[in-house]
Amino acid sequence: MNIEQELGSRLTHGLKKEEPMSGHTSWKVGGPADYFLRPVDLNELITIIRYSDQHKLPLYILGNGTNVLVLDGGIRGLVIHIGPAFNYLDGDHSCLTAGAGTPMSTLAKNTAALGFTGLEFAIGIPGSLGGALIMNAGAFGGYIGERVLQVKVVNFLGQVTTLQREELYFGYRDSNLIGKGIIVEACLGLNQGDKEKIAKKMEELLAQRRRRHPNLPSAGSVFRNPPGQPAGKIIEEAGAKGLRIGGAEISTQHANFIVNTGEATAADIVRLIKTVRQLVKDKYDLELQPEIRIIGEEK
Ligand SMILES: Cc1cc2nc3c(=O)[nH]c(=O)nc-3n(C[C@H](O)[C@H](O)[C@H](O)COP(=O)(O)OP(=O)(O)OC[C@H]3O[C@@H](n4cnc5c(N)ncnc54)[C@H](O)[C@@H]3O)c2cc1C
Repeated sequence: MNIEQELGSRLTHGLKKEEPMSGHTSWKVGGPADYFLRPVDLNELITIIRYSDQHKLPLYILGNGTNVLVLDGGIRGLVIHIGPAFNYLDGDHSCLTAGAGTPMSTLAKNTAALGFTGLEFAIGIPGSLGGALIMNAGAFGGYIGERVLQVKVVNFLGQVTTLQREELYFGYRDSNLIGKGIIVEACLGLNQGDKEKIAKKMEELLAQRRRRHPNLPSAGSVFRNPPGQPAGKIIEEAGAKGLRIGGAEISTQHANFIVNTGEATAADIVRLIKTVRQLVKDKYDLELQPEIRIIGEEK
């Protein structure tokens, strides 16, 4: 099999071999993907999916890489990046259709510019709409799931389906879209609002983010909040703030963030995650659950 000829030659951007995932994740760590592909439209996406199905090649979907920890050995198989080609917004208030590659901040700004309210919370979330739907991303009391009317997905056989609101489930950093395939776009229902008020709200939320969040590479909150209490507070009270393994550090600013101080490896981050979990378990008999997704192979 010559994947470059059989598949790469049919794609606008071809395919990249041995592509370091550290360049595609917000933590700036992670080993190489065997093959990295950037489809420019639905047809190219379907071509890739069918090829992977026919040749039994594992397939991984990446949005903006802001909620994943790719291990240092990298990813075997194909990594499909749903990026700028899937960044678009169309339609009206009854159904605003946004591409899965649209960054959440862009979505918040563009819908606000059209005078729609409901996505203010998304300003500053660095992920794409596709990743946000999978994770049911949210902040400041809002979450993406509550705005979704339909989601268009390509399943792992390359068939396109549209899931209706009634078929979808969104919970705390959870959705039933996991495992359904690749999200291509979603139709969102938003209300008309006052442009000035929306802009002001977004400015306030951005300012809060800047105050609270560290400036170094991270993947946002590492652990899910246990019922009733923020994970960051628990970690801080357990005395883990500033704890460091290799180049990975529990942020001194926000204890639920692990930052890459420069030379961190995925292995450093994994060890730090394990250490914090053990500390919290020993002190409070509480098992913190990761919010981030760990993928790929160890070195
Ligand atoms: C500084 C910082 C702040 C953050 N703040 C927040 C916050 O306030 N609230 C919050 O909820 N999150 C936050 N996050 C986490 C992250 O931005 C969100 O979870 C985001 O929704 C992930 O989107 P992504 O495109 O980066 O997904 P990725 O990290 O690329 O992928 C996440 C998961 O989604 C899957 N996926 C991605 N795209 C698709 C697709 N098109 N189809 C199918 N599956 C797909 C991937 O396979 C993976 O399993 C923050 C992260 C950082 C670094």
